[in-house]
Amino acid sequence: MKIYNTLTRKKEEFKSIKDKEVGMYTCGPTVYWFAHIGNMRTYIFEDILKRVLKYGGYKVKHVMNITDVGHLTSDSDAGEDKLEKGAKKERKTVWEIAEFYADFFKKDIKSLHILEPNVWVKATDTIKEQIELIKELEKKGFTYVIKDGVYFNTSKLEKYGRLWGESERKESKARIEEVKGKKSKTDFALWKFSPKNEKRQMEWDSPWGVGFPGWHTECVAIGVKNLGIPFDIHCGGIDHVFIHHTNEIAQAEAVYDKPLANYWMHGEFLNLKEGKMSKSLGNIVTLQTLNEKGISPLAYRYLCFGTHYRSKLFFSDESIDFAQNTLNRLYEKVVELSNSEKKSHSSKFNEYQEKFIGYINDDLNMPSVLAMIWDMMKEKNLSDSEKYDLLIDFDKVLGLGLLEIKIDKKDKDSKYIVKTTKDGIPVWTSDISIVPKEVMVLVKQREDSRKGKEWDKADEARKGIEKMGWQIEDSGEKTIIKNNP
Ligand code: AMP
Ligand code: ZN
Repeated sequence: MKIYNTLTRKKEEFKSIKDKEVGMYTCGPTVYWFAHIGNMRTYIFEDILKRVLKYGGYKVKHVMNITDVGHLTSDSDAGEDKLEKGAKKERKTVWEIAEFYADFFKKDIKSLHILEPNVWVKATDTIKEQIELIKELEKKGFTYVIKDGVYFNTSKLEKYGRLWGESERKESKARIEEVKGKKSKTDFALWKFSPKNEKRQMEWDSPWGVGFPGWHTECVAIGVKNLGIPFDIHCGGIDHVFIHHTNEIAQAEAVYDKPLANYWMHGEFLNLKEGKMSKSLGNIVTLQTLNEKGISPLAYRYLCFGTHYRSKLFFSDESIDFAQNTLNRLYEKVVELSNSEKKSHSSKFNEYQEKFIGYINDDLNMPSVLAMIWDMMKEKNLSDSEKYDLLIDFDKVLGLGLLEIKIDKKDKDSKYIVKTTKDGIPVWTSDISIVPKEVMVLVKQREDSRKGKEWDKADEARKGIEKMGWQIEDSGEKTIIKNNP
């Protein structure tokens, strides 16, 4: 399997530290507001990586942190703590805010079929470990104390900034704001002191004074504690390359003389046509925004597959509508194929499976997987049952719920087929109890009107059904009642 390693700027053959086991760390959400679909793009890319590793027979231990303290409004240690600010805005405690948005995040990723991490760790649950790490850095001479807090002295670390390419090095330095007393622009806070004139809700005692940890220390402390050092893969969004991950590596290099992880992978941004989408700019689209437009989380997941994780993805209403329609078409195909007679697998079956493995192992080439799937639908030398079996196999990586499509056509004599969705996945059944009673009244009225050749009345009933978000279709002897998005 080949993956692109930001540390070496090359696509490399992946070699795990332990045979068939992978330790994987992904930077988690800062829980002061809802996660937006840009954040979710990064988590979907990481989920694909994890599923591809699992598909290849690796046992994956996945650790994710929850940032509930220390992430300031500016990534360069200036400004307010995002959580304290969020709590003030909503007139709640910081702890309430953190719990609410962390729970919401967990529900969101579940709806996207993102496999849950094996270990969740809140930054506030590892204050002791973070203080220990800072003490180690201090012992080795990598820290200095100023009025504002304890800082990492980047000039002491020869390898500082090894995650950057040369051109980005300049840009990144230029972006970093000053904090008074810092020796160098790239130095970063390890421990910030609580402001003298203001009582913070979250603060702890430390050998240097009361305060809170800087944002870059938690991931090192949590990663080492749960995965050892070095571990295999560390991921996050591309914005983490210049500051957050660079500073994680710096701390690990300083204490352990190792870069924390062997492979560093970064997902490119999802942008709006107008530019960046970010929580701090306030122009976010969430899964809830999409849901209000009849778009399911899985349609968004499908959309993400269409662009390679290392390329920018521009989000638009047209592209997400197209993704929803294409996913619906895929679901209909799966229903059709699932009714086919079981046949044994031919050499063509193996050919497609190998092609699939080739793409996913080539730095997660999901756009090619999608193109191949639609080509495969037209393949004459594959039986329907082989196509079905291949799709179900691919879904271990796609995670589109293809096996969860419910088809209950046991009651062959039923006049009705109900087609609806549960969590965005189709359900086909002859059980009319899932259709609201008011809709069924109109369905019956329409039937009676049609029998009496009262076409206008029948049409009115149909319109009434549509107003309630349902549709009706006649198919031979049967009536299909559906409420697909
Ligand atoms: P945050 O909650 O801000 O700490 O971000 C959570 C994750 O989302 C991080 O891995 C970020 O790099 C990533 N991220 C933030 N904005 C975007 C975006 N517009 N597109 C893709 N990933 C993003
Ligand atoms: Zn992190």
